[in-house]
Amino acid sequence: MTVTIARENAIAVVTVDNPPVNALSQALRQALVEAVATLDADAAVKAVVLICAGRTFIAGADVSEFGKPPQPPHLPDVVAAIEGAKKPWVAAIHGSALGGGLEVVLGCAWRVAVPSASLGLPEVKLGIIPGAGGTVRLPRLIGAAAAVDLVTSGSPVGAKKAEGLGLIDAIIDGNLRAGAIAFANDIAGKARPQPISSRAVAPVETGFWEGAEKAVAARAKREAAPLRALASVRKASETDFASAMAFERETFLELRGSEQAAALRHVFFAERAAPRPPELAGITPRAIRSAAVIGGGTMGAGIAAALRDAGLPVVLIERDAAAVERGLANVRGIYEGSVKRGRIPQAVADERVAGVIGGDDYGLLADTDLVIEAVFEDLAVKRAVFERLSAVCRPDAVLATNTSYLDPDAMSEGVSHPERFLGLHFFSPAQIMKLLEIVPTEATAPEVLATGFALARLLGKIPVRAGICDGFIGNRILKVTRAQAERLLLSGATPAAVDAAMRAFGLPMGPFEAQDLGGLDIAAFQRKAARERGETPFAPVADRLCALERYGQKTGGGWYDYQPGDRAPKPSETVAAIIAEAAEGRAQRTWDEAGIVDAILLPMVNEATRILEERVALRAADIDLVKIHGYGFPRWRGGPMHHAEARGLSEVVAVLDRLAGEGLAEPPSDGLRRAAEAGGFSVLAG
Ligand code: NAD
Repeated sequence: MTVTIARENAIAVVTVDNPPVNALSQALRQALVEAVATLDADAAVKAVVLICAGRTFIAGADVSEFGKPPQPPHLPDVVAAIEGAKKPWVAAIHGSALGGGLEVVLGCAWRVAVPSASLGLPEVKLGIIPGAGGTVRLPRLIGAAAAVDLVTSGSPVGAKKAEGLGLIDAIIDGNLRAGAIAFANDIAGKARPQPISSRAVAPVETGFWEGAEKAVAARAKREAAPLRALASVRKASETDFASAMAFERETFLELRGSEQAAALRHVFFAERAAPRPPELAGITPRAIRSAAVIGGGTMGAGIAAALRDAGLPVVLIERDAAAVERGLANVRGIYEGSVKRGRIPQAVADERVAGVIGGDDYGLLADTDLVIEAVFEDLAVKRAVFERLSAVCRPDAVLATNTSYLDPDAMSEGVSHPERFLGLHFFSPAQIMKLLEIVPTEATAPEVLATGFALARLLGKIPVRAGICDGFIGNRILKVTRAQAERLLLSGATPAAVDAAMRAFGLPMGPFEAQDLGGLDIAAFQRKAARERGETPFAPVADRLCALERYGQKTGGGWYDYQPGDRAPKPSETVAAIIAEAAEGRAQRTWDEAGIVDAILLPMVNEATRILEERVALRAADIDLVKIHGYGFPRWRGGPMHHAEARGLSEVVAVLDRLAGEGLAEPPSDGLRRAAEAGGFSVLAG
């Protein structure tokens, strides 16, 4: 039974019980409509409490119905039935009332919630807008301005804020059921408020809509849903209820079939699956109650902050007393930044910083559950660290490396109990970036791998399992991106044109401005190491820039020139001359935006397909998560693999064949051809 009805004298209690999150399945919608009819017919009932069993109120739509034709009763009719019920319904909210859950709440005559409840309309995050009156009833209840904020951001509000907005009528401390029944008894004798659907929206100030449109467009960039949600709230504020409902439903149905919604649904499901890989089902991770970081530089300090933010006590080990001080100062710097940006109050920052114990004595690690190494990218230095850790740590302590390019298998040689060793590859800034590549070695025990995933969950990160290769998933693809970007320069494109095209596609930055920001020296160091291994990395222009010590913004010039104190990139004549020299003898052509995007993106997909074939990534969707959460790939594009599938893999193969014919890309891999024939990447991996 998804819905049960109990009686407390004159109050009926309708309990929704549809685990795990009381999603609005067809069965639940049906049961709610029937409950309205049953209770309408019961003369002894004066008021109805709608409450949910389990950990949350109705947390939204049933994801298994996503993208399928909706089955009746449709949600707008369910909400209308509750609103039109003869008895007043009181929504009693705990956990989250999101999306359709909040729309049901807006059908109720009264709304109460526990202090920890949150309420919101997150539909725009899935590329759609609310489809059951959310954008129509909300401005009628809380005014247009607050409704615009809620609907266009998709972010939920807590109970206290909701009470301030007039979204709920009361906060119930203590037992919600008892409190809601008492509330219902109280209102049963009072006049029933006017149904939200028949209220008018309070007038807005002149220019309000134009201002809102500008603000929402700036935030949404190229995502369609937020502006469409705004248009729906505006319509709701300017017309009658029925017309507004029709407008909302039409927009909802149109967006539901859009490419952006499909991409965002894909990412939603990928993110949902990521923390629980089927291959680790039933494996219990080791407990992590304390952690340590070796190396307090850029990454070490960020990782320490990420661990502190999750509530773990942290030991930070550096080489000597002076380096310890620098490491702790790096951690303090991170929290000072957070306070300055208003993310956390000073007291919280102080407490987080105080929870990091710095030292150069490995003896501090005798009882630590997890140690993450983030020292220089040098195999000998890292091996020496793990030798010392092997000597002092408990045999069951998990030992991890944050290496970007070194081989964790080689690093784990000599580690005592090598089954507790793995790679945990964070992205910079580690306290912010959501991606965590989890890299098992040949010896890593399943429960240690599972511990990596459990850690990701604790830190609020998106975990992706990666196999061992040069650069794992993300940086291996990045290398192809950069090589392609240089190929474009040698055949007639400029850095500014390439960057502009990639930004227009939706990336926050183009490949050249990104290199100037991060510094060209790290990649130069990687290429030097690769050449020592006998490889031949392709970076004819970057090599020349590095020979001139043009490392990017920090040296006043890289791919662009920079004026002192100004981060704005200026096209550089020096660079143009270097490109011309490197391009000598090569055919030149003109590049338009779409051509540039194809020539960068599709070779990335080609490399990603090899990564799949080699089982360095287990799922195409994991590669999408890596690019979205580690490299700023636009979420609404769904990631490179989704983008390629949506484009059509046969066309991707055809474009790559053409580029390869001109010497501008590698030809499509066999795997990509096979995937194209099969119509998707699932032929290569799950
Ligand atoms: P960094 O130079 O900023 O910091 C390295 C720190 O390690 C320094 O503070 C140094 O004093 C300390 N250190 C060196 N040897 C030590 C030892 N034996 N014991 C204790 N401390 C020692 O470097 P980083 O950018 O933080 O990179 C650290 C690691 O993280 C590297 O393996 C790098 O490849 C990897 N990584 C870097 C990034 C990035 O974007 N910077 C991203 C992911 C991974």
